[in-house]
Amino acid sequence: MLRRSNWRRGSFARSSKERLFLGVWESDYKDILEYRPGWNVVAVDPVTRIVSSELGDKERGDVLNLLPPQRAADIARIVGVVNVNDRWADVNWISLESTAVRNIHVLGDALQAAPLMPKSAHMANQHGKAAAAAIVEILSGREPQPTLMANTCYSLIDDKRAIHVDSVHRYHPEKKVPLVVDGSGGVSKEPSVEEGLYTRAWATTMWKDSLS
Ligand SMILES: Cc1cc2nc3c(=O)[nH]c(=O)nc-3n(C[C@H](O)[C@H](O)[C@H](O)COP(=O)(O)OP(=O)(O)OC[C@H]3O[C@@H](n4cnc5c(N)ncnc54)[C@H](O)[C@@H]3O)c2cc1C
Repeated sequence: MLRRSNWRRGSFARSSKERLFLGVWESDYKDILEYRPGWNVVAVDPVTRIVSSELGDKERGDVLNLLPPQRAADIARIVGVVNVNDRWADVNWISLESTAVRNIHVLGDALQAAPLMPKSAHMANQHGKAAAAAIVEILSGREPQPTLMANTCYSLIDDKRAIHVDSVHRYHPEKKVPLVVDGSGGVSKEPSVEEGLYTRAWATTMWKDSLS
């Protein structure tokens, strides 16, 4: 069961990757998994594995993977950086410094994303680089400079084939947010084994870049 409301705006739900996901669902998974968009779970019984919807419908799942309403983690609330809809942290998009608390830089999914900026591991990595570069400039007594950010989001749709969506985001000095560069990025035409290989190469590179 999928909660469509949890698909991220600007990345999955609004992009043509949704078309690819739904195509794969139709061709490969519809006899195995049931797709119920817009089914908001309000209660779950872990003994019977019965979930209840906001409309009072009940379903028993063989496997339940519940997605809670998305927001920044409690630690972000505790330090006071959550200042958008009581869910996300707004930042200065050059330094990634919180607009609520000085000297705290916020990265990744906890952010109030810029327009059409996906929340992704790739983007969190880019935020980290932008923040690190800005902190070096600040500590050196210089003005931080905007950083170009890019994103590629691969999705394996089985154990071999994958699809992707990508984009490039450049800081707009008047609007003071990164915006998608015209003509940048794109989306797969269809799932392929080749993209499955790219997915694994991307993951290996990203882990190495982020963790070592
Ligand atoms: C099903 C799925 C598929 C995805 N596919 C892709 C993809 O193909 N490509 C891609 O780029 N992105 C993908 N993403 C998105 C990606 O996983 C996230 O955008 C990324 O992990 C965000 O990184 P983050 O560091 O901001 O947050 P997280 O990865 O959530 O890390 C936050 C960490 O902080 C820890 N934490 C929280 N509170 C505390 C505390 N008080 N003390 C200590 N630690 C704490 C948490 O346990 C967690 O480990 C996918 C996400 C999902 C759910």
